[in-house]
Order: sequence, then C-alpha cells, then structure tokens
Amino acid sequence: MPDYFRHHPDSKGFFGEHGGAFLPPELEEHFREITEAYLLISKSHKFISELRSIRKHYQGRPTPVYFAERLSELVGGCRIYLKREDLNHTGAHKLNHCMGEGLLARFMGKKKLIAETGAGQHGVALATAAAYFGLECEIHMGEVDMEKEHPNVIRMRLLGATVIPVREGARTLKEAVDSAFGSYLSQPETALYGIGSVVGPHPFPMLVRDFQRVVGIEAREQYQEMTGELPDALCACVGGGSNAIGLFSAFLDDECEIFGVEPIGISTKAGEHAATMTYGMPGVIHGFRSYLLQDDDGNPAPVYSIASGLDYPGVGPEHAYFKDTGRIQYETASDEDCLDAFFTLSRTEGIIPALESAHAVAFAMRWAREHRFSSILVNLSGRGDKDLDFVTEKYGFGEEHK
Ligand SMILES: *Cc1c(COP(=O)(O)O)cnc(C)c1O
Repeated sequence: MPDYFRHHPDSKGFFGEHGGAFLPPELEEHFREITEAYLLISKSHKFISELRSIRKHYQGRPTPVYFAERLSELVGGCRIYLKREDLNHTGAHKLNHCMGEGLLARFMGKKKLIAETGAGQHGVALATAAAYFGLECEIHMGEVDMEKEHPNVIRMRLLGATVIPVREGARTLKEAVDSAFGSYLSQPETALYGIGSVVGPHPFPMLVRDFQRVVGIEAREQYQEMTGELPDALCACVGGGSNAIGLFSAFLDDECEIFGVEPIGISTKAGEHAATMTYGMPGVIHGFRSYLLQDDDGNPAPVYSIASGLDYPGVGPEHAYFKDTGRIQYETASDEDCLDAFFTLSRTEGIIPALESAHAVAFAMRWAREHRFSSILVNLSGRGDKDLDFVTEKYGFGEEHK
C-alpha cells in the first residue's frame, strides 16, 4: 500500500466509507482549526524534535520487544513476542497520544484538556500530560468505572485533574464520552478535547494514530534486529483501536497476518460483550461513522467487558476500513480467556498484564497452539496494577491456571 498514510484518511477524514466529522454546526470551525494546527505542527521540525525528546527522556521510549520464552514453550513452541507498552510511563500506550495532544493544546494556546476515561488509563495519561505542560484537566468517568478502577481516580486527583463522576445510563465509558463532549461544547475556545483513542470526529482518528505509530515503527525495527526476520502474525486488543493501529501501521505492507482482538465478554448476547466488528453494523456515534453495536432503534447498544478499557460500542473508523478491505482480521476473546491469560502470563513470565492487554495475549496463546512453527508479536498495551484488587477479590490468585 504505497503512500497509504498520505491518502488515509482523505481530506474530509474518511477511511473508505468510515470516519468523517459529524458535528454540531457550532463546532465545525473549531475542528477545522484543530485540523489545520495539527497538519501545521506535524510537519514542523521543532514539534517533531520536542515530541521525540519527550518520548525518550520523559516516557522512557523505546519500550522493549521481549521474547516470552516460557509462555512460548507452554503453548507448544510457537514463538510469542511482546511489545512492552506496559513499560511506558503511567503504564500503558495511551501516553503516546496524550503527550502529542498536550503539545498540540499548548501550540494552539488552549488552557485546558477535557476527556472521558473508561478504565482510568486515559484519564491518568491525559492528566499526566496536562501536568507536564501546565494545563488544566477535566476528566469525566462513569461511576461504575470509578469504583472498579479506584486507584486511577486517586492518581488523576494527585496529578491535579478534576474528576467528574458520570451518573447517567450504564455509568461507564459511553456515558462518560457524552458527558465530556457536553462540557467541551460549552468551552471550545479555551479547551481541547483530548480523545482517548482513534475515535471521534476527524482529525482525531488520524492524529491519535499518527502519535501511536511510534509503537509499530520501534517494534518492527526491534523485531528484525532480534530475529533477522518479521513475525508471521501480529495481534493487539481493540477497544477504540489505538494501541492496535499503532502496532499494525508499520506492518501493513508486510506479509504478516494481522489480528485485532475484541472482547466477547460473557456471551454473544447483546449487552454481554463489546465485539463491535463481529456483531456491529455501520452507524454514526460520537461524531464519526464506523461499525457500531446498536439496539433496534439504532441507538448505541449497552456493552460489557471485564476490561473497562474495551467496553465501547463503536470502534475506530480506520479499523472498520481494514475490516472491509480484509487487511486486518477481527477475532474475539472472552472474559474467561482473558483471565486465563492474565494469570498465565503473570506466572510464566513475571509480567502482570492489564485486563485489556490480556485479551491479546489470550488470542496469541490460542493462535500459537495452532501454529507451532510460527511467530506472533503481541502488543502488550498496559500493565495490570490497576486491575489487581478487582481480579484477586473476585477470582483469587489463579491457582487453577498453573
Ligand atoms: C485504553 C486501553 C486499551 C484500549 O484502547 P485502544 O484505543 O483500543 O488501544 C487497551 N489497553 C490498555 C492497557 C488500555 O489502557
């Protein structure tokens, strides 16, 4: 796909039929300004070198690629490699785009960053960026998630952010997005919406992807240096799709099979999973067109996953495009698969993954059992510290996963 990134998205923000910017008229001008500012700074030497310096000296990049030898043996010999985004400052890949958004906000003269958060990882990452750049920060979070991910609520407050509890509907990620967007609507002159994934109206799916591309660029080089070749397959969990697109974007022209892994939760029944690609239909949510889990009236359906960061009824438009073109395959992992991978990776490798990332590990283990002589590179998007209380109180210490 030569020149893929130059032509995707197109000038209106579309990836094939997905994406775009479906905005209230009063926001159109503001989004045009954000697009222009981003296109300007993304070509600026000063911006690129400042971002590069932040990544190296503040975030701790490059993060390593690691050969998970004991896990590989356990599943029958297929070589499993992990891109260690869990070792990023704040413990997940999200800081990659949050520092970019912070830099953009400062360039545009904004005073405040506003966003929603699911598991709290995005809120923590954005609050971190706000502290770094000396900006105010307002994070909207569903009450259910606030309880489940309490340590992250404390972190955000320590970092100086205001956390706004969202009490509507299912009180999780979707309602938090609605609430944060409402707040942004009242102050677009002084605030920048710091979207947490490759979702939302143009230009966010593009700019978040661009900020995450560092993951794939590093990983491809590191993998080649370690092995002299490229992996046979790649996989990453897909909530909105930012960690996945970050890794995948460097391998689109290669022969690797690419798998996005969505949460099938408890069952395939509506409301008990968040497998948007598998069960969704095209629709518009939060200002962009993509696949969407919808109820009979076309409204976003209730969704569920054990991993708060994955329970979103939409998905990034670029993923929808890659589903349509067939370049990326979308598979699922259940709560049970996820827990098995969570305990197994902890015991075999000494790495406690985020529940989100454990979905990708679960798929890799399944794929590995069927491809003994192959290799797979997994994006380990985050660490599991935030999930420890929830998992151990509910499921113990995984003795049966030995
Ligand atoms: C938020 C989060 C995700 C899901 O977001 P994507 O945009 O799909 O990457 C995955 N893993 C971790 C650790 C997260 O915090």
